[in-house]
Amino acid sequence: MAAACNVPNDSLEKIAKEVICCPLCKLSQSRKNAVPGEGRLSAKLMFIGEAPGKNEDDRGKPFVGAAGRILNEALEKAGIQRSLVFITNVVKCRPPDNRIPEDDERIACRPYLDRQISLIAPQIICILGATAYSSILGGKSITANRGKIVKKNGQKYFVTIHPAAAIYNRNLRSVLQNDLFKLFREIKSIEHSRSGSLLDYVG
Ligand code: URA
Ligand code: SF4
Repeated sequence: MAAACNVPNDSLEKIAKEVICCPLCKLSQSRKNAVPGEGRLSAKLMFIGEAPGKNEDDRGKPFVGAAGRILNEALEKAGIQRSLVFITNVVKCRPPDNRIPEDDERIACRPYLDRQISLIAPQIICILGATAYSSILGGKSITANRGKIVKKNGQKYFVTIHPAAAIYNRNLRSVLQNDLFKLFREIKSIEHSRSGSLLDYVG
């Protein structure tokens, strides 16, 4: 007899299909397109942001607006190929006026994120900003852990700022940039210790 909590034959495609027509919270009423996330099952690095914004809601893809451009630039400079990582958000639908997702929305959406994490089983999850930080690691302020690796229940996380915070702030752009350099070094050291291929990240 299968355990009730086990989802047999789960897949990223199955999750995406469920998310696209998900009715589980009130954000389903205002969204144009749900945004399940983007990337491959084999990704060893996963990024988790807050929620889709207007561009993401228009296109059904994560981080494709101004914050996405900042993230892309920082990834590229750090030598991390976006096509080789998995990128998603705490909630998969855009909150009206880009407000912070509410607790009931985060709770309703959480099983999708947990299923994505358990299928991908990333070596590191990069937390982008306070919303992902509080939802996943608990605690309000990222300050104490920003730029650091945090371990919880056997999973490694790397904490940095949300790219949207850096849109109008050059200093924060360098903070994000330096953090992603650090993240890249961390990945390299994990790969080294496991004698895996760096090419998995940098192509
Ligand atoms: N901000 C987020 O947190 N996620 C996106 O996908 C876009 C902007
Ligand atoms: Fe469903 Fe998540 Fe969208 Fe809410 S935010 S409707 S739980 S996919």
